[in-house]
Amino acid sequence: QFPHVFAPGRIGTLEVPHRIIMGSMHLNFEQDPPALASFYAERAAGGAGLIVTGGAAVNREGSGGPTYLVAGEVPFREAAAAALEAVHNAGAKLALQLFHAGRYAFESTYGLQPAAPSAVWSAYSKAMPAAMDEEHVRRTLAAFAAAAAQARELGFDAVEIMGSEGYLVNQFASAATNRRDDSWGGDALRRQAFPLAVLSAVRGAVGTGFPVIFRLSGDDLVDGAGPPEEYVSLAGALAAGGADALNIGIGWHESRIPTVQAMVPHGTWLPVAARIRQHLAGAGHTVPVIGSNRINSVAQAEAALADRMVDFVSMARPLLADPRIIAKSAAGRPDLVNTCIACNEACIDRSLGTEPVSCLVNPRAGRERAFPVSFPPRTRSAGTPRAAVAGAGPAGLQAAAALAEAGIHVDLFESAPGIGGQFRLACVVPGKADFAETIRYFSRELPRLGVEIHTGVLAGAEVLSGFSHVIDATGVLPRTVRLPGAEYLPVYDYHEAFAVAAALPRRLAIVGAGGIAVDLAHLLAEHRFRQITLLRRGSRIGEGIGPSTRWAVLQALRSAGVAMLTGVSCKEVTPRGLILAGSGGQDELVPADAVIVAAGQVENSSLSRELAAAGIAHTSVGGAASAAGLNAVRAFAEGLASGRAL
Ligand code: SF4
Repeated sequence: QFPHVFAPGRIGTLEVPHRIIMGSMHLNFEQDPPALASFYAERAAGGAGLIVTGGAAVNREGSGGPTYLVAGEVPFREAAAAALEAVHNAGAKLALQLFHAGRYAFESTYGLQPAAPSAVWSAYSKAMPAAMDEEHVRRTLAAFAAAAAQARELGFDAVEIMGSEGYLVNQFASAATNRRDDSWGGDALRRQAFPLAVLSAVRGAVGTGFPVIFRLSGDDLVDGAGPPEEYVSLAGALAAGGADALNIGIGWHESRIPTVQAMVPHGTWLPVAARIRQHLAGAGHTVPVIGSNRINSVAQAEAALADRMVDFVSMARPLLADPRIIAKSAAGRPDLVNTCIACNEACIDRSLGTEPVSCLVNPRAGRERAFPVSFPPRTRSAGTPRAAVAGAGPAGLQAAAALAEAGIHVDLFESAPGIGGQFRLACVVPGKADFAETIRYFSRELPRLGVEIHTGVLAGAEVLSGFSHVIDATGVLPRTVRLPGAEYLPVYDYHEAFAVAAALPRRLAIVGAGGIAVDLAHLLAEHRFRQITLLRRGSRIGEGIGPSTRWAVLQALRSAGVAMLTGVSCKEVTPRGLILAGSGGQDELVPADAVIVAAGQVENSSLSRELAAAGIAHTSVGGAASAAGLNAVRAFAEGLASGRAL
């Protein structure tokens, strides 16, 4: 089905069984060798042929934070040994990413001032780095060389030099951060000197024949950076300098152009890599080019390879979401793949802090030892316990899958006509079409696991009385807000507003500005004639949306003309709109033809009360257990835990 993907390839001397590389992800559990080994082992067993580790800092100064491994130190050696054994036992290869954060390092990690080509303030790490002097540059090159030598000695199959995403090597290459006027900077050619010197130092340390991948920025997408042509030129120099593959990254942490968010269309960045590949081919270089970012299905990889845009595709988050994406696709069953929805909530957002990375749609990710899988699911007999799950939103879907995987016979009841719960709302929001993929996945996976799905059935105690246990995953209800004067204008809760979005009037006031309100505003703003005002009592629009996505969504709302008012208090509804109580005693009218209340949620506890009264054993999960701080990450995770707890 995917002939170009499943054609073997080669990176230097390394034979790779197919054209998908599992890209580098910092996981925040690198310092837990058994967890790291289990995580990689499952992906290797699921078909990954070549895995690139999260970045290992070449020295303490280059560490990206307290959870980063530092080459040469004991935790690094222990993690490397465990990961190598696990990956090699599964028949796959492991490349070590050599990393130096430069001005993206945090002084607090080791008490070292971040170092960079020039003293240019970093809005990401909130640090003013020291400009490296010549000796410092030489010392850093030696650290790259030493880390590379150690990678080879430990048994890694390749190394990847991290030269993109705004880290040190990229900082030297970019006019945005390299303000030097010496042999390491001053013009585009001299800014190539450090990346090439790192490649040369690494090559010198590992010798010829050991695969060296260079992760190169294709376009920095930050103010002050040179044109992307500079990187096309650098790609040629790196190919001539002995790189065995060029893996093309896009954007920096400080970029204000979205690169990996759900709103970025699939394959957006492939032309950048294709251009580099074309240039290299024109110059007679055969070095393979790897495309990355926003390629999240094997079908998309196949199309890019078939079009000769790239030679390999790097996929990272899709292998968090489904460790068997490659094996399933190779077996002709891409319909069984649990697709990454680019929410970033349990992966990138966590990797920016210190919480262990997981995956919203696959809460087993990173916790493979706590939740081992059994393939195939355990067989059932007449004596198999029979459980029911009420509610087919995220928590209920995951609970049903977990129960069935544990060998329990499961009936899943949902009062709506289809499964998905709040994902059914989300998938109509601009940029969130992939949320429908989660519904597609469970609609295939649950029947495969033997779960019997009953939609359009409001299951109460009568229906559920014959089951040995019930998981109550009936979710949340919109919080009601009493607005004086509500009779003057149509007032909708967010559920109703999603259902009649296209038919809503022109001027809309949305009370509340959390994730659901923002999603709704984004959807409604698709109709350009609309005048939308988001109103929040607190100070933060989009509270609860992860840091990697919030700014991008707010940027989209601003450009769509959505007004956002914070610190406001809604006083009353009038025929002309919503009156806000002004702080100085001066009321303010927000003109509106209708009001939408999206001011949070409350537990839907009615089923749980009914089950308790009937004496039916049950467990409440997700929003049915507690609406406070509820998000989909927690709902999926609780669904998994409840299903495995029986
Ligand atoms: Fe993809 Fe979201 Fe999972 Fe990250 S948390 S891998 S973005 S689905």
